[in-house]
Amino acid sequence: MNLAKFPRARFAHLPTPLEPAPRLSAELGIDLWIKRDDCTGLAGGGNKTRKLEFLLGEALEQGADTLITQGAVQSNHVRQTAAAAANFGMSCRIILENRTGNQADDYLWNGNVLLDRLLGAQIRTVVAGTDMNAELLAEAEAVRKAGGTPYIIPGGGSNAVGSLGYVDCALELAAQANDEGLVIDRIVTATGSAGTQAGLVAGLAVSGADIPVLGVGVRAPKAKQEEAVFNLAVETAGRLGHADRVTRDLVVADCDYVGEGYGLIDQAVVEALKLAARTEGLLLDPVYTGKAMKGLIALARQGAFEGQTVVFLHTGGAQGLFAYRDELDAML
Ligand SMILES: *Cc1c(COP(=O)(O)O)cnc(C)c1O
Repeated sequence: MNLAKFPRARFAHLPTPLEPAPRLSAELGIDLWIKRDDCTGLAGGGNKTRKLEFLLGEALEQGADTLITQGAVQSNHVRQTAAAAANFGMSCRIILENRTGNQADDYLWNGNVLLDRLLGAQIRTVVAGTDMNAELLAEAEAVRKAGGTPYIIPGGGSNAVGSLGYVDCALELAAQANDEGLVIDRIVTATGSAGTQAGLVAGLAVSGADIPVLGVGVRAPKAKQEEAVFNLAVETAGRLGHADRVTRDLVVADCDYVGEGYGLIDQAVVEALKLAARTEGLLLDPVYTGKAMKGLIALARQGAFEGQTVVFLHTGGAQGLFAYRDELDAML
């Protein structure tokens, strides 16, 4: 596999550490390791940074001067995109969708939103249910009319370009496991816009690493989530010349831990945040990694990972904690 043939801007702090989590492991009765993609370096880091290396590579090749993207109000993807734009002297226009309906001041203005503003992005907020793809196209047209050259990044950076970042992560993780002599039985990650899981599945399949990936859903039901991941994994592997290596059985999402909905937290999420923080000093986030850890804890306690070595991909997002101050105050 030749990832080097794709244009790529290099700014992520890589490789990210692969760390043991001994106290959390003991708590759950499994051998748990954390792949620290919360440490990718770009304005707080997170999983979108790896995707943005390939997306920026293409944007720069096309001569773009303005990045346009969209996300939920507390999107980590949007924050990392705003930082990447600043890092390359580009403008950034973002459209935020209030998907959760949360009207708390901290949700609307603190956390990632505060950072988006600090990073100089132009922000426009729209109501839940807005056609976000149409908004992206309209924004690009406005940039062109003003004489600029836009580059549209889809929500979560999840297309076959962005997913290459997680093909790279799969290769990096397999190399680290080899160096450590670590036999990984399973990788667990939050899955939302699908690019992270799709890239991992494609990278592992194309490179022949036989490690199953479990995505813990944060929004869509299982059938829809698995279909999105599968389609994107096939397309991503196709860019690497091996679409046929991604088979449907490689894509597994467990969407039983979404709770009330995207971006809505419950006591089990808060328990997951507390357990990671208090056993390992590890900060998870309320929207993605907290929910994925909620799922991992429940599955581990049911014996689903009996005797296994599990790598939890920490995809970042702790910046969003500050947006949930009221809920956390009440539940901590
Ligand atoms: C976006 C995001 C995810 C989900 O990744 P996808 O590629 O969208 O599936 C997980 N964790 C965090 C912190 C995120 O910001």
